[in-house]
Formats: sequence, C-alpha cells, structure tokens
Amino acid sequence: MACDQFEVIADYLNIDTNDRDRLMLPKRAVAVTLPVHMDDGSTKTFQGYRVQHHLTLGPTKGGTRFAPNLSMGETAALAMWMSWKCALANLPYGGAKGGIACDPTKLSRTELENVSRRYMQEMIPFVGPHTDIMGPDMGTNEQVMAWFMDTYSVYQGYAVSEIVTGKPVSIGGTEGRREATGRGVVYLVDRAMDMLKIDPEKSTAIIQGFGNVGSVAALALAMKSGVKVVGISDHTSAIYDAKGIDVVAADQHVMKKGNLRAFMEADRVDPNELLTMKCDILVPSAVDRVINEKNAAKLQCRILAEGANGPTTPEADLILNQHWDDIFVIPDILCNAGGVIVSYFEWVQGLQSFRWTESEVTDKLFRIMEHSFVQVIKRAKQDKVSHRTAAMAIGVERVQKAKHARGLFP
Ligand code: NAD
Repeated sequence: MACDQFEVIADYLNIDTNDRDRLMLPKRAVAVTLPVHMDDGSTKTFQGYRVQHHLTLGPTKGGTRFAPNLSMGETAALAMWMSWKCALANLPYGGAKGGIACDPTKLSRTELENVSRRYMQEMIPFVGPHTDIMGPDMGTNEQVMAWFMDTYSVYQGYAVSEIVTGKPVSIGGTEGRREATGRGVVYLVDRAMDMLKIDPEKSTAIIQGFGNVGSVAALALAMKSGVKVVGISDHTSAIYDAKGIDVVAADQHVMKKGNLRAFMEADRVDPNELLTMKCDILVPSAVDRVINEKNAAKLQCRILAEGANGPTTPEADLILNQHWDDIFVIPDILCNAGGVIVSYFEWVQGLQSFRWTESEVTDKLFRIMEHSFVQVIKRAKQDKVSHRTAAMAIGVERVQKAKHARGLFP
C-alpha cells in the first residue's frame, strides 16, 4: 500500500526511474529473535523488527508497535510513511518504525518488561541518538520507553535520555508529548471546520480507537472545540449515542478497566458500521486499512481526520477523490504529525539537557502544524490534486532534493 502510494506520487512528480527505488526502498531492515522468560517458567520466542527508511537528512525516527500480527512488511510501510511525514514537517529525520509481534494485553507486567528490554538490547548495535531514535506507537507507552531508555543507558554506562522519545517526564520526557498527536489532530480539525464554515457547536464526531491518539482527540474535540462526540470504539466495543457520549467518563473508565468493554453497554453498535454512520468529523485512530473499497463510498462525514497511520487504502482513496467536495481529507502524514513533532522537541531538549514548558511545546507544535497545513492546502489547490497527494509530494520532494544535494558515494 505504501509502495502503491509512492508510485502515484512518483508519477505525479515525474520522478526519474534512477531515483524511484532509491527513494522507496528502506536503507536498513533488521529482524531479531527475542527469547524471553515467561511467568510460568517457560521460554517464549518473539520476533522483533526495525526498519530505517533513509538516513539522508539525519537520524531515523519512528515508533515501536507491539501487535500480534506485526510483520516486516507492515514495519517497512510505516517507516516509509514516517519519512514523508518528517519531511513534510521539515524535521531533520528519516523515517523508521519497529516493533514486536506480540499481544501486550496478554503479557504480565514482568513479561512485558522482559520483552521490551530484550528488544532494545538486540537493537543496540543499530540505534543511537544520532542514528535511530525510537518512540511509542500502538501497544507501547511511556513505561515501555522508560525500559528502553534504561536498557540502552545501562549498556552505555550513563543516562542517554535522547535515545527514545515519549518517555516519562521524570526521566527527560517532554511535557505534552503524550497528548501531542491527539492535540495536533484536533488543531487541524478546527482549521478544517473553519475553512469549511462548519460550526463546531452544531457538529458531531465519531472516533475509532480510544488509546493515546483517540482518547486525547475525543477529549479535545468535546472539551475544547465544543463538538459533540457521538461515537467511540476500541478493540472490544463500539458505542454510539446521538445525544453525545461523556468522553471524560469513558476516559476514566478506560484508565481503570483498560478498555471500553463494560462502558455504556446499552449503546453498542457494530464496529464496522460505526465508521459509516452520519457525523461531521470522522477520526480513525486505531489500525490501518479500515477505510477501504467496501466502505469508502458509504462514509457520511464532512471531515476525515486520519489520526491512525494508513487508515485509508489506495482503492478507497480513488473513491474519496470522486467525492472531493463532500469529504475534506486530512491525510495521516499531516494529521497525526503532532507526535513526531513533539518527539523532535523532546530529542532536541535531551541533546541540550534543556527543558521547555508545556505551553512552549504546544505553541511550537501548532506553529509547525499550521505551516504544514497551509502548504498542503495550497499545493492541492494549485495542482488540483488530493490533499494526500499534495502532502506526500512535498515530503518526497524534500527527501529527493536532499539526496541530490548530497550526491551518491562512491
Ligand atoms: P494505542 O495502543 O494507545 O491505542 C490504540 C487504540 O485502538 C486502542 O483503544 C485499541 O483498543 C484500539 N483498537 C485496536 N484495534 C482496533 C480495531 N480493530 N477497531 C477499533 N479500535 C481498535 O495506540 P495509539 O498510540 O493511540 O495509536 C493509534 C494509531 O495512531 C496507530 O495507527 C498509530 O500508528 C497512530 N499514531 C500514533 C501516534 C502516537 O503518538 N501515539 C503518532 C502518530 C500516529
């Protein structure tokens, strides 16, 4: 899917065949085997991955996903999207992604710590604050980042906080990193509503996924923007209430119970149908490929804000492009860039042993998001292309330009 998207952009930009593979293929792809002691005395072997897409602009940067079906292909796709996302935001990074094929909800805390530490230990030869910086993604959190940082630091013999981002503030994390992606999503939704002259107070939103990105987006939409959140879901259940959902209560419920299973049981709906129910703002913020050729034509939203990475397939894009005037797409590499932007701030602060306040971080975040948003809208209008094509083209062009400037050795 990432390769198909790249080919579309490469055709649009008339990229020479000599440059296509060089831009598309990952620089490094590492697979590691992780034998881990389990609580029952057995040893289980997990598979771990890390893909560094390109190192042209600086170190690579990307999240770490713990998910049962994670594969090298998925990791490589996510790494490539990270490259275009970082370049679009003008960050001095190439894209990376990594993770472990495991279900973190089925591991005890000790097992999760063992898996996390073993993964970082196996990655030590390939990562570093100037080579590849890890961050959180689906299935990982601040605690996992703290174990990564500790494992790496123990091997170096001193604290290396800048090896990971998304750490707890107590060990060099940045104020506002946890909320950054969701806040960025809502900043752009607000901008889109403003452009489309949609009144937030009369608008409704449906959010798929109630983890880091989805819950923060839901809270910000309801509490700051004044939008009525009518639908939420996670991997256990989907809930719809036309009168509006108390997202603060939902957030507290998930914090206590870990998921939405026992929340508002009377208002359950089919998780797949939730995406196509009527709303003004749809925010997929869970897994990829949920908007596909089967449901794209049925979407009833005005704004599609892609909190997740790769929620829309290229086939669905073709359908959405026909509804150009009906649905305003905020593509993933623009929409969810808040996470990597604030991760960049965290890395810079770590390198400089310096701290910014949360309001400084959020202010700088919104300024970068605004700049990217304006550029994407301008490019899309100017070239009469979709927002996704415009966003990716800006990213790809920047990487290509940097590769040409550096030349090819030998
Ligand atoms: P998370 O693990 O905190 O939350 C994921 C949520 O999705 C959970 O509520 C989970 O129950 C739900 N979910 C999983 N499968 C689902 C399904 N099939 N249907 C409905 N809900 C499902 O993860 P996150 O960090 O919030 O990441 C979510 C998405 O956002 C991912 O695509 C990730 O790559 C992307 N993203 C995250 C960040 C970040 O800073 N965390 C940054 C950029 C992009």
